[in-house]
Amino acid sequence: MVVERAARTSAPGLAINLAGNGVAAFAHLGLSDRLNKVGQPTRRREYRSSGGTLLFEINEDEFWGPHARPRCVRRSDLLAMLDMQHDDTRRSAAVESVRPRDGGAEVTFVGGQVERYGFVVGADGVRSVVRGSVFPGHRSRAAVVSTAAFRIMAPNPGLDCYTMWSGAGSTFLLIPVDGDEVYAFASATGGGQVDADPSWLDRTFVDYPEPVKAVLAYARHHREVLHHSPIEEVRTDEWSRGRVALIGDAAHATAPVWAQGAALAVEDALALAKVLSEGDWDTAGVRYQQRRRERVQHVQVMTDRFSQALALPANVRERNMAIAGPKAYHEVFGPLRDGRAWR
Ligand SMILES: Cc1cc2nc3c(=O)[nH]c(=O)nc-3n(C[C@H](O)[C@H](O)[C@H](O)COP(=O)(O)OP(=O)(O)OC[C@H]3O[C@@H](n4cnc5c(N)ncnc54)[C@H](O)[C@@H]3O)c2cc1C
Repeated sequence: MVVERAARTSAPGLAINLAGNGVAAFAHLGLSDRLNKVGQPTRRREYRSSGGTLLFEINEDEFWGPHARPRCVRRSDLLAMLDMQHDDTRRSAAVESVRPRDGGAEVTFVGGQVERYGFVVGADGVRSVVRGSVFPGHRSRAAVVSTAAFRIMAPNPGLDCYTMWSGAGSTFLLIPVDGDEVYAFASATGGGQVDADPSWLDRTFVDYPEPVKAVLAYARHHREVLHHSPIEEVRTDEWSRGRVALIGDAAHATAPVWAQGAALAVEDALALAKVLSEGDWDTAGVRYQQRRRERVQHVQVMTDRFSQALALPANVRERNMAIAGPKAYHEVFGPLRDGRAWR
């Protein structure tokens, strides 16, 4: 059974960049055909300076191959796809606490109802209530790259690939969701503050090139497309206790600099399902963690490395990116092309 505190699955119109390993995990669930009907493949990446100079580019199609092309998709489409996979979701039911017990776990719901289950999976996001009850000391903290970000959906200003511009203290990413719409992600770098006041965008990106200006001009007149969110991370080595296990952001929320959040969450789910199917639920949480730890740590290390690289002075950052950018991409994603961690 799935328990969800929201009354309806909602994803306020935003898109998400689904990395190639996430696409492969969806394919393993038999969802390739459906996924291929929503959003579009990113195909190519360009990394540019805030002045627009191309520093390096990546042919993602070639790197990932036809079966795992990264895609930019609307979150609502992704959630609808996952919802179709099961029909036993109990909605408007919020978990208040979880206690591991012999042979299972006890779940207390908001409102006081207490129920017992054979195994409980905390897939409840970065501020996980399940993590809070089982490991009270393990809290989320601000990301290394930025305290927060703006995400925006806007008409596509003619962009045909993933394009990221980086300047002093800020970065702006645009990904086409299709010919009509782009998804924008704008944040500080070097752990900088991002005011919830949208004037932060106008002040920060005033010297960025035309596609960025076009998106911000649209957002200025359509405030409803702006979403300000904190970027928080969870770094803990404990993802399970007894018959309770954490997956996805609840276990290891990581700043989305390599767009690994959704991919790792689905991989975790596959890995845990496999371990549970092998039997002995008393040790399943520990075995799941052993199977996943190295891959997740790899993403965390690479996230920190790129977050720090973005904060370097302009001349060093741009030279680094131009020389080492393609190698860095291969270092990050090369090990993730291998799906063994969840098989
Ligand atoms: C600004 C920003 C941009 C991002 N961009 C990307 C990107 O491009 N690509 C990418 O892969 N990732 C991205 N991420 C990360 C990605 O959104 C997360 O990693 C991913 O959503 C994690 O999925 P999850 O299922 O673990 O948690 P969530 O998506 O947070 O889902 C948790 C669910 O649990 C429910 N819930 C919470 N508490 C309770 C409770 N007490 N009782 C019952 N239900 C509860 C919630 O309602 C929710 O439905 C981004 C994150 C941010 C902040």
